[in-house]
Amino acid sequence: MHKLSSYLNGSWQQGTGRISTLHNALTGEPMAETSTEGLNLQEALEFGRKSGGSALRALSFLERGELLSQMSKIVREHRDELIEMAADNMGATRGDAKFDIDGASGTLAYYAHLAQSLGDRRVLTDGDQVRISRSKRFVGQHIWSSRRGVAVHINAFNFPAWNMAEKVACALLAGVPVLCKPGTATALIAHRVAQLWVEHAGLPAGAFQLLCGSAGDLLDHLERQDCVVFTGSNDTASLIRNHPRIREMGIAVNVEADSLNAAVLGPDVQTDSDTFLMFIAEVVREMVQKAGQKCTAIRRILIPRATLDDALEVLRDRLDQQVIGDPRQRATTVGALSTPAQKRDVLAGIEALQNSGATRIWGDPQSAPETGFFVAPQLFLAEGGAAAPYVHEHEVFGPVATILPYDGTVAEATEIVAQGGGGLVSSLFSDDSEWGQELLLELAPWHGRLLWGSAKIHDQSTGHGAVMPGLIHGGPGKAGGGSELGGERGLWFYMQRTAIQGDSALLRRAFTNPAD
Ligand code: NAP
Repeated sequence: MHKLSSYLNGSWQQGTGRISTLHNALTGEPMAETSTEGLNLQEALEFGRKSGGSALRALSFLERGELLSQMSKIVREHRDELIEMAADNMGATRGDAKFDIDGASGTLAYYAHLAQSLGDRRVLTDGDQVRISRSKRFVGQHIWSSRRGVAVHINAFNFPAWNMAEKVACALLAGVPVLCKPGTATALIAHRVAQLWVEHAGLPAGAFQLLCGSAGDLLDHLERQDCVVFTGSNDTASLIRNHPRIREMGIAVNVEADSLNAAVLGPDVQTDSDTFLMFIAEVVREMVQKAGQKCTAIRRILIPRATLDDALEVLRDRLDQQVIGDPRQRATTVGALSTPAQKRDVLAGIEALQNSGATRIWGDPQSAPETGFFVAPQLFLAEGGAAAPYVHEHEVFGPVATILPYDGTVAEATEIVAQGGGGLVSSLFSDDSEWGQELLLELAPWHGRLLWGSAKIHDQSTGHGAVMPGLIHGGPGKAGGGSELGGERGLWFYMQRTAIQGDSALLRRAFTNPAD
């Protein structure tokens, strides 16, 4: 049995107590185990603050970018090994695994590139000098400086490589050391990536630490300059937000949580148009990619009643082409769910959907292999729009989506989508600029990102579900209210903005980028 360890205080360590088991998603057999009991997490946080923090802050953005570039290269060089690992540990097809692993190396490379524009300095300015008095000499300047704590990154199971890399990229570039805790069930991949970084990336001591397994008493030892960046379910997010230490110390927390993302087909879209085909392609991909275990996956599909029958015919036809089974086979398009808990939760979610009145209109539950954690993709239809029970409340985190027929108006589309309580991303598909603009503005306050699909970009779009490092990722309300990535914006959570008042010339000399 593979025993995973944690990288803390500059060495690989194994806990001694309660063990967490990782399973092979294809067979259900145990494949690795880990324990964090007995590990000194207080000491690890202190090591990060003292050694990692000061070493990173001594580097310029340019130099930190070189570290990220090296980390990206390492992931790229071990791509095949990591893809192979993802089939067993996650049930992922080659395409699913690439999405995670290339996403990790791509995001690191993006931030390495961004570092070049931030330059040979260690502080960011926010805007120009602000005139605040009669004197031209006495001015204000906002700056961003690195927090003096550790960024604790708690990640979900579904993107073990990308989730770790996207957070690490922003924190390290901001000059803040990290302690990463991957989702335990799929930690094999995060553990391997961490091993490679520790061995080959030339990271300063304490800049990167890994806790592989339960969080234990980690949060009890946080200090005021630390922060927590969490990706996972709303239930765990609520535990973290309400953790006494976090509340008492006012520790900054960023949350990426559940999301009932929607796709809305506009009433102008004809079923023989490129816009329609784009809509169908997005809906199908979001259902099957990573077996639906994507926080950005489309869960609710709004189709005008007038187009419903034609749209369903095309949708069923495309879904019939999907093949569930061994993710290593080239023909397979739908792999397994990653964990036994996932399989249990998704089957329970499907049952609850049906009990709430949703009808299965495509998919055969018996078509999934019986071994491992497979669940067959299934499409449901629910009448009742915004009032459809359960559909707007619970994210079934698997290859499952629900069609909600609507009347084609902006008003009803908005009412239905908003019923999800705030989401990471939704898409609208229309070539009607007025209808599209109106819906976009109604939906924007409920989302962190919106994709407007239309004929001219139907073959150029990066897609509904793909998180782009240059755009913010996160969403209001139920989606957690957090924000990550977004280019330079991704660094801000790890930095403190301070208004400095003083002599204009002195401030200019202190904070101007030498390259400007
Ligand atoms: P989860 O059960 O909430 O776990 C997330 C992380 O929290 C794991 O690392 C887990 O550790 C840890 N955790 C659990 N209890 C904790 C506690 N008391 N203190 C500190 N850490 C704790 O979520 P999941 O099942 O891994 O992920 C699925 C969910 O994540 C879905 O709802 C999905 O929508 C959401 N998600 C959101 C995004 C986004 O960007 N918004 C991205 C991906 C996934 P263990 O693994 O050791 O239990």
